[in-house]
Amino acid sequence: MDKTHFQLIILGAGPAGLTAGLYAARARMNHLLIEKGAEGGQVLLTDWIDNYPGFPDGISGFELSEKMAAHAKRFELNSMFGNVLSMDLTEPIKRLVLEDGPDLTCDTLIICSGAHPRPLEIPGEKELIGKGVSYCATCDAPFYRNMHVAVVGGGNTAVQEASHLTKFASKVTLIHRRDELRATKILQEKAFANPKLEFIWNSTATKVHGTDGVEALHLRNTDGEESVLKVDGVFVLIGVLPNNEMLPLDLLQADDGGFIPTDIETRTAVPGVMAAGDIRSKEVRQVINAAGEGATAVLAAEQYLTNLS
Ligand code: NAP
Repeated sequence: MDKTHFQLIILGAGPAGLTAGLYAARARMNHLLIEKGAEGGQVLLTDWIDNYPGFPDGISGFELSEKMAAHAKRFELNSMFGNVLSMDLTEPIKRLVLEDGPDLTCDTLIICSGAHPRPLEIPGEKELIGKGVSYCATCDAPFYRNMHVAVVGGGNTAVQEASHLTKFASKVTLIHRRDELRATKILQEKAFANPKLEFIWNSTATKVHGTDGVEALHLRNTDGEESVLKVDGVFVLIGVLPNNEMLPLDLLQADDGGFIPTDIETRTAVPGVMAAGDIRSKEVRQVINAAGEGATAVLAAEQYLTNLS
């Protein structure tokens, strides 16, 4: 059997990719799941997940990732680690170019490449990554025991992770550009009740100060007033950007943000190519809908293959 051709290739092993892998394995499709980093994707950056059904006491992002991977592997998931550099989707047989190893081809492709944290793009941010500037509270919170840290952002990630940071830091200051949080109400209630969490409203960070480590954050409010907040660390949690560098964006008719539009069955503009999870152009980015889209995408792939034969 040709070991470089598959009926289905799944790109990425976050909740969407692992669910697609589970469905593909159970459908006994000749499939391959390719992951660049660790199984779990962005869920690994989440300390605690309280809204994934079936876990009434909540579950850590790490454990949920492990369980999803183990579940797919129970049904003989075929997976490998690899870095897809580019792909040709112009022909019915799709071709993926990997950093190491031969090109791989497939009849159907499910893109689950996910997203990564959006940077602020302000002076000092890049220079101090790993020296006080972080995009992952779950990963880095323990380094800030009894220190004062800032969180920038007002969405679910910023508010949830700011609460998590208060388990370690002596004080957490959340800086938001408006006077109202975007985060869901239950997260807001918890945050407002937390005595270690303070808020600076209507303000943006304009510069990160420090040489060997973060020392302070320059702020500007909506009235144009400038101030300096002394902090030992800054967590930038202001949304996500798509992992799309390997994708033919024109062919897939990517939106202005670089995310991939699909129909409700996850089919992209390219026949036989589906997109699921955070890489999809959509409003709601939750673990539950990523998993649902992964399942839908495999059913769409099966239907495409049936129509071909
Ligand atoms: P998000 O929902 O897009 O929120 C981004 C936040 O950052 C917004 O408050 C936004 O302000 C602010 N922001 C954006 N650009 C900024 C900039 N340049 N400077 C300052 N502030 C900026 O992103 P997210 O919180 O990372 O969440 C991503 C997705 O994951 C969402 O769909 C979210 O619901 C989901 N998620 C869910 C959970 C959960 O259900 N427990 C947990 C984590 C994430 P504005 O509000 O003014 O736009």
